[in-house]
Amino acid sequence: MQETEIQQLVARHPLLQQMAALQPVTWFNPRATTLQAGLPYVGLSAEDVADAERRLARFAPYLSAAFPETRAANGMIESPLVAIPAMQQALDLRYGLALRGRLWLKKDSHLPISGSIKARGGIYEVLAHAEKLALEAGLLTLTDDYATLFSAPLREFFSRYRIAVGSTGNLGLSIGIISARLGFDVSVHMSADAREWKKQQLRDNGVTVVEYAEDYGVAVEQGRRQAADDPRCFFIDDENSRTLFLGYAVAGGRLKRQFDLQGIRVDAQHPLFVYLPCGVGGGPGGVAFGLKLAFGDHVHCIFAEPTHSPCMLLGVYSGLHDGIAVQDLGIDNHTAADGLAVGRASGFVGRAMERLLSAFYTLDDGEMFALLGLLDRQEGIRLEPSALAGMAGPWRLAADHAWLRERGLSAERMAQATHLVWATGGGMVPEAEMAKYLAAARAAQ
Ligand SMILES: *Cc1c(COP(=O)(O)O)cnc(C)c1O
Repeated sequence: MQETEIQQLVARHPLLQQMAALQPVTWFNPRATTLQAGLPYVGLSAEDVADAERRLARFAPYLSAAFPETRAANGMIESPLVAIPAMQQALDLRYGLALRGRLWLKKDSHLPISGSIKARGGIYEVLAHAEKLALEAGLLTLTDDYATLFSAPLREFFSRYRIAVGSTGNLGLSIGIISARLGFDVSVHMSADAREWKKQQLRDNGVTVVEYAEDYGVAVEQGRRQAADDPRCFFIDDENSRTLFLGYAVAGGRLKRQFDLQGIRVDAQHPLFVYLPCGVGGGPGGVAFGLKLAFGDHVHCIFAEPTHSPCMLLGVYSGLHDGIAVQDLGIDNHTAADGLAVGRASGFVGRAMERLLSAFYTLDDGEMFALLGLLDRQEGIRLEPSALAGMAGPWRLAADHAWLRERGLSAERMAQATHLVWATGGGMVPEAEMAKYLAAARAAQ
């Protein structure tokens, strides 16, 4: 964008000044509306999510066979839900405000196969592509036992096809592992912030890793270009893929069943607040879509981003979506929260979801590290920095009485609220890396 355009934009949108100065901000979305009014803009329906659920059910026997760690859950890739009362108490002290309601953690950090939220969307999209190829080739029918895909002839068939993806790390890890296991020839284009151990793990799994000195946007562009030259190569488009989005959305109905088992109610008297770390937007956007379908207007979705990479807040708040990048404001997109190091948000997700998201906020890297250390000490749960972004959310929300009042969220209702922090990654971080994170956490207290 041009300098004068930026100046005019900042004049009309005062929050941009604070964002450019890297100050943590909280923004309540004035365009947030009801599910009924917002749904038509998504362009996807409950039936699309049900279709994704059925596809994952067809693949369950394959996943059980190919990934023994999924066997206990019969080939379903799902994560535990846990209450974190000691963390809640510690954060009441840290933020000087006693939170009403109960704090829970959704441990996508401990999803099987790749240990991050990307084990939902990323794996789903590869499975959908593999199914399509095998069906078209007459090697599979919808009623077959998909465990047959875990066989030498099918692996040989898939090895004639290629898959490419650009990633800050976790998406590449998910897509690389599942693609290689199916037999595909897979290349992962990794941005500069991607961790070395993630690249090594991919190479160990037989994945081609292409490294870039630039950020996520460049890695994606190069991956896209490589795929465009090769009709046998399928490019997984993290910025625009509806398939990826639907893979994430399946989480909504599954969470509802987990809540039912735990006896957690969600209705007008028992509101649900979900805090989701946001990078390009597909993961949190897709999960939020699924949550809205499952819980309607009783769930409020809040996105969290680093002060150095607030791309979705910038896109939605300015209304420019993917027409603006954080770099246009002079923000550097450098953050230790590598899963969130994205300068330009998905235009698809921003436009689809902007009416269904209640609030956005930013926090700095030091805060994420402090929360990382606190969660380790209080609950013995270890996450990667990105996954802590949602943890500050309940206290940001609770501090804004006007917003709660306008929505009829009285003290009595809030006392019965469920606050769910979506822990998006960290389950596969090697010991030595985790030791470095914990050292940074001690320094950040
Ligand atoms: C990718 C990722 C996110 C955010 O997902 P997007 O689809 O990029 O918005 C959050 N946390 C972690 C750990 C991630 O890897």
